[in-house]
Amino acid sequence: MSDCIFCNIVAGQLPCGKVYEDDEVLAFHDIHPFARVHFLIIPKAHIATLADAGPEHERLLGKMLLLAPRLAKEQGLADGFKTLINTGRGGGQEVFHIHIHVFGGGDPVRKT
Ligand code: 5GP
Ligand code: ZN
Repeated sequence: MSDCIFCNIVAGQLPCGKVYEDDEVLAFHDIHPFARVHFLIIPKAHIATLADAGPEHERLLGKMLLLAPRLAKEQGLADGFKTLINTGRGGGQEVFHIHIHVFGGGDPVRKT
């Protein structure tokens, strides 16, 4: 087992509620949702934070971002959604494997 939770999810060593998967990207429901719909989009490759991403990740990060509206719509967020990337301890990041939060539904939601 890796010491990275999300790498273990990618490796199939921890379960997840899968929303989407291809050879480079995985999306799954957040275990502690703060909205009716709340899922995470992650790269399969380990990149710790957005600040650790480089030019070689430009296409991958673009792909992840463009997946957000498509998957949000599939998850029933036809009316819109929020996206969030916490970066570093000062940015409130808890899992150090880069991920995009996508959430919405129900009452307007706010992440502080
Ligand atoms: P961060 O604060 O790093 O941006 O967010 C990490 C997110 O990962 C949190 O919203 C947390 O609920 C979620 N999370 C942490 N561990 C797991 C897990 O094992 N499975 C799933 N599905 N989500 C997790
Ligand atoms: Zn990882």
